[in-house]
Order: sequence, then C-alpha cells, then structure tokens
Amino acid sequence: MTHCRRNRTLVRLAPLALVFSFSAGGQAPQPAIASGTRYPRLIVRNATVIEGNSTPASGPKDIVIENGQVTEIVAIDPGAMNRPGFKRPGGGVEIDAAGKYVMPGLINLHGHVQEERGGIRQPLDYELKLWLACGITTVRDVGSDLERTLKLRRESAEGAVAAPRIFVYPFFNSAPAPRNAAEARARVRELKAKGADGIKILDIYRDVMEAMEDEAHQLGLRVAHHAGVAETNSWDDIKFGTTSIEHWYGIPDAALENGVQSFPPGYNYNNEVDRFRYAGRLWREANWERLMKVLDAMVAAHVAWDPTLDIYEASRDLQRAQTQPWFADYLHPALEEFFRPNPASHGSYFVNWTSTDEAFWKENYRIWMSALREFDRRGGLIGLGEDAGFIYQMYGFGLLRGMELHQEAGFHPLKVIQQATSNGAKILGQEDRLGRVRAGFRADLLVVNGNPLENLKVLYPVSGAGGIEWTIKDGIPYHVPELMAGVKEIVARARAERVPSKVSP
Ligand SMILES: [Zn+2]
Repeated sequence: MTHCRRNRTLVRLAPLALVFSFSAGGQAPQPAIASGTRYPRLIVRNATVIEGNSTPASGPKDIVIENGQVTEIVAIDPGAMNRPGFKRPGGGVEIDAAGKYVMPGLINLHGHVQEERGGIRQPLDYELKLWLACGITTVRDVGSDLERTLKLRRESAEGAVAAPRIFVYPFFNSAPAPRNAAEARARVRELKAKGADGIKILDIYRDVMEAMEDEAHQLGLRVAHHAGVAETNSWDDIKFGTTSIEHWYGIPDAALENGVQSFPPGYNYNNEVDRFRYAGRLWREANWERLMKVLDAMVAAHVAWDPTLDIYEASRDLQRAQTQPWFADYLHPALEEFFRPNPASHGSYFVNWTSTDEAFWKENYRIWMSALREFDRRGGLIGLGEDAGFIYQMYGFGLLRGMELHQEAGFHPLKVIQQATSNGAKILGQEDRLGRVRAGFRADLLVVNGNPLENLKVLYPVSGAGGIEWTIKDGIPYHVPELMAGVKEIVARARAERVPSKVSP
C-alpha cells in the first residue's frame, strides 16, 4: 500500500537555485516554502517560543535550522538587538512566525501503526498525515506489525516518507507467548536482534515478567507495561524496573483494601462490557493512603506514567465521543465501522451503556486525575500517549484531547506541554536531543496560529480553531492545511468506493 504512495511523499530536496540568500528584514522576495521539502538552511523568524521545559514563553526569536538540527536561537527583542555586535541570522529560506507560537513537536508515547481496522483496509498515509497535522513528530509504537513498522521507522528517519519519527516497542506476548523465564529471555533477545527500541508487555505472569525485564535491562531495552487487571500490578513494575506504566489499572489495583476488586459473581474479564463497566469502579476501591505509598514507590523506582486519559473518555460521556465534529470530513470508513459497538472490535463495548456507568466513570476520572496530580507533586514523571484507533479516538486528535484532559486534571498548560514533549523524550531516553526548542536538539517544531497557553484548542487542525500552520519534523516543514486536505481526499475516496475491501487473510 505504502509502496505506491511513497513516490508521492518523497521528500523533495531543494534545488540550489531556489535558495536565495538575503538579509533579515530585507527587500528580497521570499521563495515559497514547499511542504515536505528539506532545505539546507531554514529560519523560523519572529517566534514566541515555548521551550517545552515549563519555563515561560519568550520572544520574539529567530530559530535557525540546518541539517535537521536547531543550530541557533537568537533573541530579537529591542534590548538584544541594540547590544553592540548584534547580528541577525540570515541566509536560507524563512517561515515568518510573527504573531505565532513555536513549541516542540509532540511526542505520542502510545501509538499503533495501523493499516486496517476490523479487517477493512485503511491506507497508512491516513494515520501518518493526521499525526503530523496534529503536531506529532514522534510516536512510540507499542504494538503493530513489527516488520512493517521497522520499515516505516527507517523510511521516516531517511525522510523518505511524511511521518513522525518512530520508536518501535513490539508486543512481547505475540504467539507463541513465552511460557516461562527461559522463553521470556529468548523472546527479549529475539526482539532486540530484530531491531526493537523497547518492548511492550501486557497480561503477563509475574515470573515471566521478572525474567523478561531483567533480560531487557541487560540489553538496554526499555519496557512499557499496559498494566491491566492481572496477576501483576504496579508493585511488580516498581520491583522489576518498568520504564512506563501505560493506562492505569495496575496502579489502583496495587492499592486495593482487600487485594481484589469487588467484582459481581457473573463478571467475566473477557467480556468487554463487564471489563470496562467495572473498570469504572476501580479507582473508588483504592485505599488513598496505600495509593500514596504506591505512587511514592513508583517515583523512587523511576517508573513513569503514561495515563492515556483520552482513550477512556467515551465511558464518561458517550454522546460527546460519538459526535466529534471532525468525524464529518475526516473519519475514515474503516475506523467508523470499527467504532460501532461490536464484541469483535476491541474497545467497542457500548452495549446498553447507562447514565449510571457514566456517573461511575466521571467519579473514576476525578480520582484518577487527583492521583496523577499527586504523582507529579511527589516527583513522578508523566508523559502523554493517545492509543487512537480505538474507542472513538482519531489519530492525533486523541493526543490533543489528552492535553486538554491533563489541563482538566489541574496541570498548568506549560506543564501539559512539557508532559507532551520533553517528558516524553525522557521516557524514551532521548532527552538530550528531542522534546525541546533548544540549540543542538533535533528540529521538531510546531508553528502555531495562536497561543496554546491560552487555549490548547488552537492546536486542532480544523478551520476556525487556529491550528498548527507548520509541523517541522527533523527540519522538514509540513504545511498542515495541505496535510488535512490530503486526509479529506483519502476519506472522500474511501467513502465513494462504498464497499470496503476486506484484507485478505
Ligand atoms: Zn494500546
């Protein structure tokens, strides 16, 4: 699928003739910047900069990008410009960010590269364009087709495809699932040999987890744990050294008064209506004092938390989830079909979903958000991931919604942005090169129409809200309106075909 698309998304190298040299503020005409083109020298001028480390916004500044790296950030306020010897950077092509904010590209810690939903094809380009249009320049893939995603990681690194940079954390438990310590170690070595950046675990026995984490640490692989309601909970993450807890269940589960949630007798974990209904009553059963002990131990053991707040929101407000305005033009029919309540589609569990369920889930969110804030106060590291492609969340939009929910939890927008950028980089072990607007770091930057500190909604790439104007990944600028026009076209074409093509087995 992507083979044929690749030619169209190849990064164009700027012909030298296109690159004019002219002085800042001079009369020379600006060459138009072409989306998806790598320029030898690109200057983003007059920007108000949000660095991504919770320091306040500051500007205006000129940001110089060469070979995909930010090489220089120059303050151009009157005080700075009046200093003797001041020289404004020139040369190359320019993006004028006057009146705009520039912040680091977003890091989505919980993505899944998807080319189908429920057996219906969905072109990879759809997801990649949405990610970039929503400002995501880095994705930690936590489970997908491994060979396919390794190829995408390479193509993205080469600039051969318009895509975020990819870190690959494959499923540990792919069939045949390792059954004991020896098999666990063998699987970790196998995934390392294939080129994995880390490993994703879920539903795992304690002895298998202990061995796999030990082997992973020896090989320098990080571990993301989808901590479900299982034999293991956060105490195991703390003991074995998990890098990040994905979602949340294992945290309150480790603080239950009686060690087990008060499930009704007929509860069946594999019935998703049961599972998600009673997940909505899990946080209320956690003992707060015990919970604080769990959080403190997570902090001490450097276990980070990627709560994915967006992906459960339908449970507290189904109607909101089902009527998101961007579905009209941008929801691919494969996703639309997948979101319909159906026991065969993971996360599509809304059968007889009641106001009582929503009330429990609203309370669940309140306690969850308080726990998140406590975790932060105690020194815990919090990132953001979206897990889109499930439960009414579209790629990219899910992460932006997650940022709003972090604000709702009580975090200052500066801190929300830090969580979605440099904290994510730290969880990936990339904090010395990604996640900040800083000289020496990779040029993953967003040029935003509006002030996200005033309103995170300006990040949504839909008309009226402002939107990101440019997503710059590894120094390559992508024009967001162009990306969204492409998404619209993909969706319109798929809808026109009407009969969805099934993926051959
Ligand atoms: Zn997931």
